[in-house]
Amino acid sequence: MNSTTAMGDGTRAVRAGLPEPVKYEPTLPGPVFAAHFHLPGEPTGPYTYGRDSNPTWTGLERAIGELEAPGEEVETLVFASGMAAISAVLFSQLRTGDAVVLPSDGYQALPLVRAQLESYGIEVRTAPTGGDAQLSVLAGARLLWIETPSNPGLDVADVRRLVAAAHAAGALVAVDNTLATPLGQRPLELGADFSVASDTKGMTGHGDLLLGHVTCRDAELAAGVRQWRKIVGAIPGPMEAWLAHRSLATLQLRIDRQCANALAVARALGERREVSGVRYPGLASDPSHTVATRQMRRYGGVVSFTLPDREHAERFLDALRLVDDATSFGGVRSSAERRGRWGGDAVPEGFIRFSAGAEDTDDLVADVLRALDESAG
Ligand SMILES: *Cc1c(COP(=O)(O)O)cnc(C)c1O
Repeated sequence: MNSTTAMGDGTRAVRAGLPEPVKYEPTLPGPVFAAHFHLPGEPTGPYTYGRDSNPTWTGLERAIGELEAPGEEVETLVFASGMAAISAVLFSQLRTGDAVVLPSDGYQALPLVRAQLESYGIEVRTAPTGGDAQLSVLAGARLLWIETPSNPGLDVADVRRLVAAAHAAGALVAVDNTLATPLGQRPLELGADFSVASDTKGMTGHGDLLLGHVTCRDAELAAGVRQWRKIVGAIPGPMEAWLAHRSLATLQLRIDRQCANALAVARALGERREVSGVRYPGLASDPSHTVATRQMRRYGGVVSFTLPDREHAERFLDALRLVDDATSFGGVRSSAERRGRWGGDAVPEGFIRFSAGAEDTDDLVADVLRALDESAG
């Protein structure tokens, strides 16, 4: 079933990675629980030992590959979490003496990764996501890491422009595509060497599993990442992989509703006097909108904004009824949190990251406006 190249995202999503129909077999085969497989004679693939390969992963990897690069031959590797996928690319590609460029405003675990890389003698340079500052630190770098839109600030990097400059400088480019999902942007089409994501978020969308993936075109790069997975063993369980594949069928339905809800919430927030710094790449007035529109097909379900202070933000979160006060994002149930409570991001005390779920738009906007009224003053 690799005939979905010309089809729409919804059609592709419901069929992604499914095997050819076999009489009396299910549409999506169930999870295969196996530490090892029957293997008489020469130990050749595809299925030998459960840390190297599993048929449930194969189906999911095929599905993600079809979404990341429709109609193209790519390799996808699934991991136990987004961080396992990120670490696999960085630690399989970088050697002592190499230089890497990381975002200064990216995911909150990146500073921990930075310290680990530096302890191996890898030079880490940083640049903010927006504004092309990466261009001035690329010389001699082996890898440029982009996270766009960035979490939690929602800045957008000009991927095509940065890829052209990085490749000219001899650097590989990896894009953390967690926030957008492949329905929002396709990093490989924009020229990146690796598309990496935490599928814990919008990709699977139910807040009930952790998962990550790496997709790339180049077989040699993929082999390095595969070997890293084998060495570290950060593999997803078959149940998680199967739940993820099942969840992909509704990806377009979920993401479209979440994007529409995020836009409606961002617009409503923009009307409020106590709210400042509303960021959503889909807002025409957003500083990232022009760049986002050139490379994104959907703007994602996350909005960020700032209330006057910590107490105001806490009252607001407390007053919400349809929005869970929880970390993470991208789920079918709206969630929000005061990012400052973690201490890792450079954000004001009243800064809120809001993840729009799949509720009815009017209900969600009404809940946000009521919570703002109740938490005022
Ligand atoms: C959540 C997140 C990660 C880490 O993913 P896990 O699945 O929690 O390991 C990495 N990058 C971004 C942008 C994220 O939002």
